[in-house]
Amino acid sequence: MTSSGLLSLAEEVGAAWAPRAAEYDRTAAFPQADMDDLRSSGLLGLLVPDRLGGMGAGFEDYVRVAVRLARSSGASALLFNMHASVTGALARVPDDLVRALGAPQSFLATRDEVLERAVAGAMYGVAISEIGAGPRLSALQTYYRKEDGKYRIRGRKSTCSGAGHLDAYLVAARDAAVPEEGSPRISYFLVPNADIGDVEQRWDPLGMRGTASNGFTIDACVDEAALLGVEGIALLLAHAMPEWLVASYAAVYVGVAQAAIAAAAAYVGAALVREPANEGPAREVGLGSSPWVRQRLGRADAQVEAARLAVEEAGRQVDANPGDAETSRAVYRAKLLAGDTAFEVAASLAEACGLGALMRGSDLERILRDARSGAVMPPSSDIAANVLGAAVLGTDPGVGLGARPW
Ligand SMILES: Cc1cc2nc3c(=O)[nH]c(=O)nc-3n(C[C@H](O)[C@H](O)[C@H](O)COP(=O)(O)OP(=O)(O)OC[C@H]3O[C@@H](n4cnc5c(N)ncnc54)[C@H](O)[C@@H]3O)c2cc1C
Repeated sequence: MTSSGLLSLAEEVGAAWAPRAAEYDRTAAFPQADMDDLRSSGLLGLLVPDRLGGMGAGFEDYVRVAVRLARSSGASALLFNMHASVTGALARVPDDLVRALGAPQSFLATRDEVLERAVAGAMYGVAISEIGAGPRLSALQTYYRKEDGKYRIRGRKSTCSGAGHLDAYLVAARDAAVPEEGSPRISYFLVPNADIGDVEQRWDPLGMRGTASNGFTIDACVDEAALLGVEGIALLLAHAMPEWLVASYAAVYVGVAQAAIAAAAAYVGAALVREPANEGPAREVGLGSSPWVRQRLGRADAQVEAARLAVEEAGRQVDANPGDAETSRAVYRAKLLAGDTAFEVAASLAEACGLGALMRGSDLERILRDARSGAVMPPSSDIAANVLGAAVLGTDPGVGLGARPW
């Protein structure tokens, strides 16, 4: 499908999502109707190659689609982002690299099967984060060991968007056979929904509520085919090709920032203020006639457009030069700019509009809360900035006073 065809599809799905966003935010429930729309649109196969029946899109197209979807519902777009990061990574990590790393030929067949299932409507999630470790792969405490030709995975994941509602989850776990003091071997497994344990029902956060990002326990024996690629691939990919852990979120927060501008413009366009009577009677004027309000909208417009261009540029570089050091920098810049911009813009516009736009149920109030999560999601803005700062200095971001990025 052409880029403009994909955007029209995203426009259609987004239009269906928009009226439901407030209610999913209120209940913090899994947005089943939104995900059904996604499924029937075919967008679950967006990043799956044509040869497997998918739409064959690259990262730049993903960025455009995700930005559009997030304008209607940041939370539902975040669920789509998790699915896209699994299917995108599987589809686009080069076969040669996978073979060079020692993955068996059977992995390529399994990978194709997983991608074909996405085209048929299967939806995937990501379960990396743990209490105490956050998203830092090297600090994970979910372990796996080989038992009778299978992998036994045991541990607890703190946050997984869509937990209990999806078909399978990319679970990151640490090889129990490697001594604690050695370099950790972290691997990815695709674990079916039936194999995850009790899903907690504690998700009640400030924003991005309609993602149902509950934690779960896991104590499962999965087939060898559940191993994605080779053992130890997780840290390697995080350092060499961070786009699938980093940049897919960035697109979502650009869409959230655009939604903040749209919500503020709608509010300002309808709001009246009384001009103080210096001479003659007081009169009501539109809030939009205030240069103080307009300059905030203008700054927001420039900031969000800059973030959008940075995220699209990162997408272009991921498509053209995956694994390149400059591509990684573009990816970290995109995440940092998008996460920070979304909240800065939403907060500034909330100030411009005033309390009327911050009452429960107002679009801007929800978007402001959603935008707060951007800088927190991995890698946090602080960590992304540390990686970029180290690159400026030509040093290793994992060395020194800061935490390792992964
Ligand atoms: C809406 C939403 C959806 C999410 N969905 C998913 C999902 O689907 N899958 C998933 O895996 N995760 C998901 N997450 C979790 C997200 O990845 C976590 O928020 C992230 O892992 C960070 O963890 P944390 O917020 O607990 O912060 P922490 O990692 O606990 O960090 C808190 C603070 O401590 C600092 N800190 C922590 N450790 C160190 C250290 N060793 N040295 C120095 N400083 C340190 C951090 O920099 C930060 O400032 C989601 C989060 C949100 C908000």
